[in-house]
Amino acid sequence: MNDFGYLRPETLDQAVMAIAADPAAKFIAGGTNLIDLMKYNVERPERVIDITRLPLREITETESGGLLIGALVPNSDLAYDERIQSRYPLLASAILAGASPQLRNSATTGGNLLQRTRCYYFYDPGTPCNKREPGTGCPAIEGQNRIHAILGTSEHCIATHPSDMCVGLAALEATIHVQGQNGRRAIPISEFHRLPGDQPQIDTTLRHDEIITAVELPPSGFGSHYTYLKLRDRLSYAFALVSVAAALEIEDGKVAKARLALGGVAHKPWRDTAAEALLVGNAPDRDSFAAAADQILKDATGYTHNAFKIELARRGIVRALSQAASGTPQSQTDKRIR
Ligand code: SF4
Repeated sequence: MNDFGYLRPETLDQAVMAIAADPAAKFIAGGTNLIDLMKYNVERPERVIDITRLPLREITETESGGLLIGALVPNSDLAYDERIQSRYPLLASAILAGASPQLRNSATTGGNLLQRTRCYYFYDPGTPCNKREPGTGCPAIEGQNRIHAILGTSEHCIATHPSDMCVGLAALEATIHVQGQNGRRAIPISEFHRLPGDQPQIDTTLRHDEIITAVELPPSGFGSHYTYLKLRDRLSYAFALVSVAAALEIEDGKVAKARLALGGVAHKPWRDTAAEALLVGNAPDRDSFAAAADQILKDATGYTHNAFKIELARRGIVRALSQAASGTPQSQTDKRIR
């Protein structure tokens, strides 16, 4: 790990000024991803700006009937908040499917949005990697790619986004609030993470001088018909091979509203509104769910070791939608540390 400077601002304005003044600086909060990356010599910030003293730890009601979640709210506090559990259980379920209790206690809402891929090559500075060093190549395409993407890939990168929380946020149509030198802006979650294209080194549309201040949830939380289904190599502390966030509103025996987002399959949480449209107006049955799965996966491409993900995703989508429709979401072990 390289030497680095350390700064702990007291206000948002100070934090923005500090990051804007230093292209080699990084914000740090929970540190659950950045510290690992620094130890592996993947990230080498010359200065870390500790934002843990900023007033971003509240969850408040919005005028429209939604919730505004401060960027520093720990993942555990968010998952166990009574308002989240009762009104947005899909989000609570997604968060609790991720990481471990210790990591969730430390990881923050903003940091979760910014965590980086777990591609093996990205973490190994002894290998080429277009995301870590643009222009060096992508050994995953011909190499160990079991955990890699099947949708939205490019010839430059086939990495996946690792977050569970973000898949839930994608299904709920959350909005990310940020503040920078030029003021504040609100970014729909669908536009926050990006596909690799020819710039895989850029994960999000957040600018260097901007800080995430909050995540806004709209009023509709799909509290009756939802599931977060995570398929992985072991039951806990593993990243998703495929995950599915499914949320439905059912009226008079037909789907009135549908949301579907996948994790573990692309460089960003993957949502296909055309698949959701196929569900609306139809009975919530397996034929309809299978048609939605076919739509989402019609352009999926497998590589040497991950082609199994296409069928896994197809079955996962049908199963998650079936569970959501019946109002019996996948049970989550109560992982609270008492
Ligand atoms: Fe790097 Fe992306 Fe290729 Fe992994 S998939 S080696 S992160 S360029």
